[in-house]
Amino acid sequence: MSAVHRYRISPKNPAAHLFEVSLTVEKPDSAGQIFAMPAWIPGSYMIRDYAKHVVAIRAESDGIAVDLKKLDKSSWQAAPCNKPLTIIADIYAYDPSVRGAHLDTTHAYFNGPCVFPSVAGQEEVPCELDIQAPDESIGQDWRVATSMRIKDAEHYGFGVYAADDYAELIDHPVEIGHLLIGEFEVSGIPHAIAIRGQARVDIARLCHDLQRVCAQQMMLLGAPADLDRYLFLLHAPGNGYGGLEHRWSSSLVCGRDNLPIRADSDIKDDYRTFLGLVSHEYFHLWNVKRMKPAVFSPYDLSEETHTGLLWVFEGITSYYDDLALVRSGLISPESYLELLGQTITRVLRGVGRHRQSVEESSFDAWTKFYKQDANATNAIVNYYAKGSLVALVTDLKIRAETDGRVSLDDVMRECWKRWGDSVEGMPEYGVEQVCAEVSGLDMQDFFDATVRGTGELPLQAMLASVGVEYHLRRASNRKDKGGKPSKKEPGPWLGTTLAEKAGKSVFTTVMNGGPAEAAGIAPGDIAVALDGLALSAANCDRRLRTYRHGDSLELVVFRGDELITTSVRLAEAPQNTCFLRLDGDADAMAIARQAAWLQSD
Ligand SMILES: [Zn+2]
Repeated sequence: MSAVHRYRISPKNPAAHLFEVSLTVEKPDSAGQIFAMPAWIPGSYMIRDYAKHVVAIRAESDGIAVDLKKLDKSSWQAAPCNKPLTIIADIYAYDPSVRGAHLDTTHAYFNGPCVFPSVAGQEEVPCELDIQAPDESIGQDWRVATSMRIKDAEHYGFGVYAADDYAELIDHPVEIGHLLIGEFEVSGIPHAIAIRGQARVDIARLCHDLQRVCAQQMMLLGAPADLDRYLFLLHAPGNGYGGLEHRWSSSLVCGRDNLPIRADSDIKDDYRTFLGLVSHEYFHLWNVKRMKPAVFSPYDLSEETHTGLLWVFEGITSYYDDLALVRSGLISPESYLELLGQTITRVLRGVGRHRQSVEESSFDAWTKFYKQDANATNAIVNYYAKGSLVALVTDLKIRAETDGRVSLDDVMRECWKRWGDSVEGMPEYGVEQVCAEVSGLDMQDFFDATVRGTGELPLQAMLASVGVEYHLRRASNRKDKGGKPSKKEPGPWLGTTLAEKAGKSVFTTVMNGGPAEAAGIAPGDIAVALDGLALSAANCDRRLRTYRHGDSLELVVFRGDELITTSVRLAEAPQNTCFLRLDGDADAMAIARQAAWLQSD
């Protein structure tokens, strides 16, 4: 019989948030087996050092204790032994995010990297996981939802699951609890969604809409050969938003009120956002989970792994997430243009886009994008949002310059053909080369400007080529996300954001070159008064509207416990809020390109 690593996890003490995890290695390294916990989880590019949650760990062989020595922050070495070796750990789990592990008396959830050590030198050995039920006093109606292959368990039941190797073992998040489950098929492949949280959801409607989104994405790149099942794990608390992609599943969080309830028939803005999240994580099953950067093939989970390609794997994914909603007919072209206008607005509002390119933003994701401070708006660019706009202008440029013969869809299909199944992964300039090859265009200058440059993207010209008008205006108030026209005239501009924090109004960001910066205001300052009257996050827009740009006013703030009085000269708000409109006068060529782009006949 070939070797297999036997893992077991049990919700040992839910009230103390402790899982007990054990791992038996049949043939440990005779020099002393090393075990390691990952420092990060694929898809979330930050060092998290999951070993810090190991609160106790011991080893034994044949019923006798074996010495275990800690080697560094993440690894241990057992004393040499020549019989099967078992390590047993208590792991603290109280991180409710999609990157964490969470256990209490109401449910259990875990990602493999948080709870399963790897066996050094034996990462290729097949793994089995015995998922054990909690004590009878809780969890009577708990079910198990995971995309891991069943070895010996009922569907949605406790028991033994299997994975081909360690990398696969940790790529199946597991949700255990009182679950609402819906099932549907895409291209004959069984799909399911398992929802935790007290959500009143119209599950039939939800499955119907998810099916349309998934089918649309499936049409673009086709079903991967090994995709024989797919599962969405959804946690629906009062508030929250996020997702993490996996090869056969994804973990999602969204506010329960964003989901459709019975008798809803339209698509509200929050539900549209949720469908965009579903579409995004699902697209990742091709773009980053199978086709991935060369440096992620395989992942080194012990330290940061840098690539300039996150704009491809997150940006292009972000482009196709909302695009799939309009292409599937779930939302109208006008609704799609509203989303696109909001994305453009997000990018235009950060002056950091003139400092950092999307390639640099990708490379430094670990220390900058994932560790944003108050200066982020001035220093960095979001490789999701700007990356999706680079994808947009690339798509529209190729369509325009090849008379509609070639599009980014063709580029992605060719990339998928080359790297969907490759051991080496995509080289750093892979997408750019395929764009040039498939389109026959010389795109070097274009990518130097859009991917490695920090100038403005040619959005207006490219959108005009598909019959879409590009408009800029000033933000009408602090809640204005763009995407729509506004009749409301904004007041003058302070060049800062004010937010409510613990009952105080705090300046959270101070824009480079803005009036607040010139007045010496710093992030963290607490607003006290403007022109002799109380100033707060809630009344700031209203107060400013009573003045004109050019007015100089006294501004009073607390920095720590020191009162600071300064003078601020109000400026005109920048034109950084975008909305798009279908151009009623567009020519036939532009209309034809638009129809091909949005596939709206
Ligand atoms: Zn993503």
